[in-house]
Amino acid sequence: MKENISRRNALKLGASAMAAAAVAGLAGCAPKTAEDAASASELSNTAAANSTVGTRYTKADNSDEIGIVHEAASEEDFDVVVVGAGMAGVVCAMVAAEQAPDAKILLTEAQAICGGGTNYAEQPDMPAQGVDWVTAMQEADAEGATSHFVKDTRLIAERAYDIGRNSAWMFKKHAVPLTIKNMQRLQKTLTSFEAGEPITRWNGIAGYEGGNGSLTIQRLTGEIDTDPAYANVEIRVNTRGTALLLDGDDETKVVGVQLLDDGGDYININTKAVVLACGGMSNNLELLQNYSNQELTHCYSVEQNHFGDGFIMAEQTAHGRCKTIALSSMQGSVNGMHYQAWLNLAVGQTPTAVFVNQDGIRFADENLYRITDAPDLDNINRSKLVEGQGAVYSILGSNLLDYYKENKLPGMTMSFYGDGQDERPYDLDADLEEYEGLDTVFKADTLEELAEAMGVPADAFVETITTYDTDASNGEDSAFLKDPEYLVAVGDAPYYGFKLSSLIVNTNGGVRVDHDCRVVDQDYNPVEGLYAAGLTISGFVSDVYETGNCQCVSIWSGSKAARSLVEQCLGGTVADDWYGDSEWDNATDLPVFANQDEYDAFVAESASA
Ligand SMILES: Cc1cc2nc3c(=O)[nH]c(=O)nc-3n(C[C@H](O)[C@H](O)[C@H](O)COP(=O)(O)OP(=O)(O)OC[C@H]3O[C@@H](n4cnc5c(N)ncnc54)[C@H](O)[C@@H]3O)c2cc1C
Repeated sequence: MKENISRRNALKLGASAMAAAAVAGLAGCAPKTAEDAASASELSNTAAANSTVGTRYTKADNSDEIGIVHEAASEEDFDVVVVGAGMAGVVCAMVAAEQAPDAKILLTEAQAICGGGTNYAEQPDMPAQGVDWVTAMQEADAEGATSHFVKDTRLIAERAYDIGRNSAWMFKKHAVPLTIKNMQRLQKTLTSFEAGEPITRWNGIAGYEGGNGSLTIQRLTGEIDTDPAYANVEIRVNTRGTALLLDGDDETKVVGVQLLDDGGDYININTKAVVLACGGMSNNLELLQNYSNQELTHCYSVEQNHFGDGFIMAEQTAHGRCKTIALSSMQGSVNGMHYQAWLNLAVGQTPTAVFVNQDGIRFADENLYRITDAPDLDNINRSKLVEGQGAVYSILGSNLLDYYKENKLPGMTMSFYGDGQDERPYDLDADLEEYEGLDTVFKADTLEELAEAMGVPADAFVETITTYDTDASNGEDSAFLKDPEYLVAVGDAPYYGFKLSSLIVNTNGGVRVDHDCRVVDQDYNPVEGLYAAGLTISGFVSDVYETGNCQCVSIWSGSKAARSLVEQCLGGTVADDWYGDSEWDNATDLPVFANQDEYDAFVAESASA
């Protein structure tokens, strides 16, 4: 067990030793209490030393003092505390309540509403078919083999094995409606399965009615609020989990969690099990840079409240340092614009876009793809192009703008084409007007002025754009042989330069768990009383965005953590039919609809059931 440096030890060590140790990022330097933190920062005058306060293994800023236990204003008792009310947390709290009706469960959420990133997610990606264990392992091996990152095939197999039961829990027991289209796709999958055809992908199968996860979260939390079966669950919003309470100095045993309420008071919750379901860390790039070898300067995320709290809290325990965390990079994007704005998609995502870098020159065929192992995900590659340069500007002139007005996003095979995209008016002039004031958008009457505004060398930039326009009129890209179909001249003033970032949806990976979703130490021994679920966990990591695998992981791990802790911490027994009385796990009883009316009737009936 590692020893923490107490106030007394810190005083003994002295300022210079503390500072040096902190800069080195030594595990033992983590202050455990606010008092320790204060003494450490008082003693250490260097900025580097101060910046390590509260983060045990990183040098990132931790001004919110996550992972540090403060003096508590009050104390409460619960049997289970789930930290974070996104898909993983909500599913976890509900399954725990169903399987342990006498347990007192707290679901605590930092934001004012539940749902987190799940509110924006479109597809749950859950085939309604569980598989036998051998098939699940074969699938997992195949999936693991395609990744450059370390995946935990046992976890992937567990998810595949449970997938039908989780689908049954979600779509039948809780009547979360699927779209008719996806019902039909599920049916097709089942038919293939019955025919003995291999199912090679677990993702991209299903979609909720209504288009995104927010309705699902509303439906599930609505049940918690109104159904007496969930009277044992309390949802507390505006309440952030900030630190785990260990059993004295024992880093292998968690006995509680400290919360910060919206009045600024810390509350100690004594509990038998804590579930970290706080999402990833893509909204905290400074912290993320400690875990990622990727250049993050050009990245930003559209996640909600993913500050990495769960990772820092897990690091309080014998789990130790989180390992590699991957980014789901999605698209080239202008920071400050809505990620679904048509103008943003045009300048960031289309192969007709013209990219120059910090030197004012083009550096790649903007139609370039297949630089990852996912050739169908060419949008990601524009993200990668952006991440690989000092700066990237997408250049727009009168001709290219007119072209976009006449041709809606040419050649963009995939994008962040989210819920409501088609309802957005395709009005590029309105978008330009709305976003002109951003510090990522530059406008000028000449190419020289635009170069100056963007801070790139004017000579090189003017030559690049002039050459590009000449090439476009000749139908041949002299620099990168871009497909002539996408070679459209920039044209005349007004000229625009859009500074691009790489848009990250979320991070994948972080806290190591075993197949029961227990947080484990370096030797894979479980930390007693500590579980993790959703985007907080590792094991499903890949090096590129994998279409919609995240919710599937969240639903599985939330449910699995609940089932595990009921037996391991509460002394209960999980019922064999925990997912309901459905046969979805092993039979094709999926309803088939001939038309929309039949489907609507089914949805109405399920909703009232
Ligand atoms: C725009 C967008 C589109 C997406 N589309 C898809 C898709 O189509 N398919 C798909 O599978 N996935 C998609 N995702 C990813 C999606 O976020 C995940 O699939 C999944 O829903 C994440 O669930 P989660 O419970 O792990 O995290 P979240 O749903 O983000 O929930 C985590 C919750 O924890 C809260 N929290 C954080 N820290 C604390 C703390 N210290 N104390 C208390 N609460 C805390 C957060 O506020 C948040 O509510 C998308 C994400 C975004 C942003």
